[in-house]
Amino acid sequence: MAQALLLSGGMDSAALAWWKRPALAINIDYGQRPAAAEREAARMVSQEIGLPLETVQIDLSSLGSGTLVGTPALPGAPTPEWWPYRNQLLLTFAAAVALRHCGIDTIWIGSVREDHINGDGNPEFREAISKLMKLQEGSIGVDAPAAHLSSTELVEVSGVPPDVLGWTHSCFLSNEPCLDCRGCAKHLSVLNALRRRW
Ligand SMILES: [Zn+2]
Repeated sequence: MAQALLLSGGMDSAALAWWKRPALAINIDYGQRPAAAEREAARMVSQEIGLPLETVQIDLSSLGSGTLVGTPALPGAPTPEWWPYRNQLLLTFAAAVALRHCGIDTIWIGSVREDHINGDGNPEFREAISKLMKLQEGSIGVDAPAAHLSSTELVEVSGVPPDVLGWTHSCFLSNEPCLDCRGCAKHLSVLNALRRRW
């Protein structure tokens, strides 16, 4: 059986694509501010690997909050870029796309160890949504092959070349890296850690 990867265009999913070579990549523009840059990064990474890429546009911006959509964070938001139920929504859309491709039985996501602090970044969430989707048509599950690794460890183990990593986009605010948001901070921190090792 085969896997489809939810390829955001950020460094975690790009490294996972390089490492695990799924059968299909799916990039979703859900109305987030950096969607264009993420899609271009996903396109370049997929092209380099020879990976078929499906792009989907579904405007969920009216449901978002915080930095990714450019509105004040909702009261009680755990992070400045909190978008309620985002991973659940994106996985459902990705599974609907994957269903059109014969043989795909798993959606891979680029969750890493640092994501376990989020409710939808932990193994219990993946188990629950896999169980839910397998109850429905298609019987597609969800897995995160890099969940036991940090972002830096994932990039290292993946063997993704530095120039390909340079195409990835992690900014939460815009299509040009702001160098100040949590996405940019993580991106720079991983690159700095890797530079010490390369
Ligand atoms: Zn940024």
